[in-house]
Amino acid sequence: MKHIFLIFFTLRYHFSSAFQIASIVSKRPSSILLSTKEKSNEEWKQILTPEQYYVLREEGTERPWTSPLNDVKEEGVFKCAGCGSPLFSSSTKYESGSGWPSFYDPIDADSVDLSVDYKLVVPRTEVTCKNCNGHLGHVFDDGPQPTGKRYCMNGVALQFVTSLEDSELAKEVVDRMEQSKASGGVSVKEPLGAALPGIALDAGVSALFILSFFNKNGSGGLDLFSSGFQISQVLELIPLGIGIFYGIAAAKKIANLL
Ligand SMILES: [Zn+2]
Repeated sequence: MKHIFLIFFTLRYHFSSAFQIASIVSKRPSSILLSTKEKSNEEWKQILTPEQYYVLREEGTERPWTSPLNDVKEEGVFKCAGCGSPLFSSSTKYESGSGWPSFYDPIDADSVDLSVDYKLVVPRTEVTCKNCNGHLGHVFDDGPQPTGKRYCMNGVALQFVTSLEDSELAKEVVDRMEQSKASGGVSVKEPLGAALPGIALDAGVSALFILSFFNKNGSGGLDLFSSGFQISQVLELIPLGIGIFYGIAAAKKIANLL
């Protein structure tokens, strides 16, 4: 039984951690040209630096703690370094401790696309620019409220413009975010393929712990305290607590899909 728990926990760890592959980081300012998804690789190579091309067009990952955008504290907008499309507002940026610029929400459903990425065998949710399809990073479920999401972005795939530099854009982004909020808050839904394995794992872990509790204590497991209260009896309840915790996690993920 112990081994089964271990396997489940190991798999869960892979789900929630941002394994990132080392690469090189760009120092050059990005292009602000608007472009479409139909650009050829050769055209992209003309526009982007080699580092930007590696991340945006070859789904590469920059080294953590290398992006100057990690330290941005000013008000402004993070645009796609490939096409200039506005993606994130500084108001949703937070310090995740991951070494990559992190946000808890994109501007709205028109800024990014989500899809399942199986590059590290276990599925992760890839985030791409909706306008040019450029790879930006991944989104994980360990972010702060109100969304609980962590959009873990490659700084090299972004370009920061302060609200002072482009007040018109800043205003447009605020309007878009307000509209998005008015039409339901969290704007981007997780693809089903990315959510299902996580739900299955959480439900599986939950079932294993709850079953182990009732196996050990019999069907009257909850009558544990009928003969008085002892510390050892509290310890017996731990598997039930873990089971309920994972059950709730699975239920939350299902609720997210609806
Ligand atoms: Zn783009």
